[in-house]
Amino acid sequence: MLRAMGLGEALDRVSAPLARWTFCDRTGEELCETDLEALWGEPAPGRGVTRQRLQEVLLAGAAGVPVRLGVAVTSLQVREDGVSVSFSDGSRATYAFVVGADGIASTVRRCAG
Ligand SMILES: Cc1cc2nc3c(=O)[nH]c(=O)nc-3n(C[C@H](O)[C@H](O)[C@H](O)COP(=O)(O)OP(=O)(O)OC[C@H]3O[C@@H](n4cnc5c(N)ncnc54)[C@H](O)[C@@H]3O)c2cc1C
Repeated sequence: MLRAMGLGEALDRVSAPLARWTFCDRTGEELCETDLEALWGEPAPGRGVTRQRLQEVLLAGAAGVPVRLGVAVTSLQVREDGVSVSFSDGSRATYAFVVGADGIASTVRRCAG
């Protein structure tokens, strides 16, 4: 998906291919190994990247798109002119639509009913 968004080169610069992983016991003795290239194959071989580097790539790719960090969605209200969203800092804004990507305990899913 990142490649389709034009972020493939930036991702390649900050990540490394994951060829295999190994499970070990607490003494470090190898229990099993998985060939990840064979497991994942094309079109999406796995790459390892830290969360911070991935966020930097995503933020650079979304330059020009307003991003607000450090606030949470607290409630939604569907209105005729769009969706009114309340945030944890007490602010509120109206959007044409809202995409819920806030994880397993999604506030957006709960508020959307
Ligand atoms: C320890 C661990 C290891 C894992 N290892 C793997 C793995 O190796 N491979 C794999 O495929 N999956 C793995 N997973 C599962 C994977 O992390 C999840 O499936 C994936 O992160 C879900 O993505 P998501 O975008 O739906 O939610 P999340 O990654 O949970 O992202 C949700 C985001 O929404 C934000 N948010 C939450 N509530 C609000 C709110 N009210 N307002 C605004 N923002 C909000 C959160 O801060 C977070 O940034 C692992 C999970 C755990 C816990």
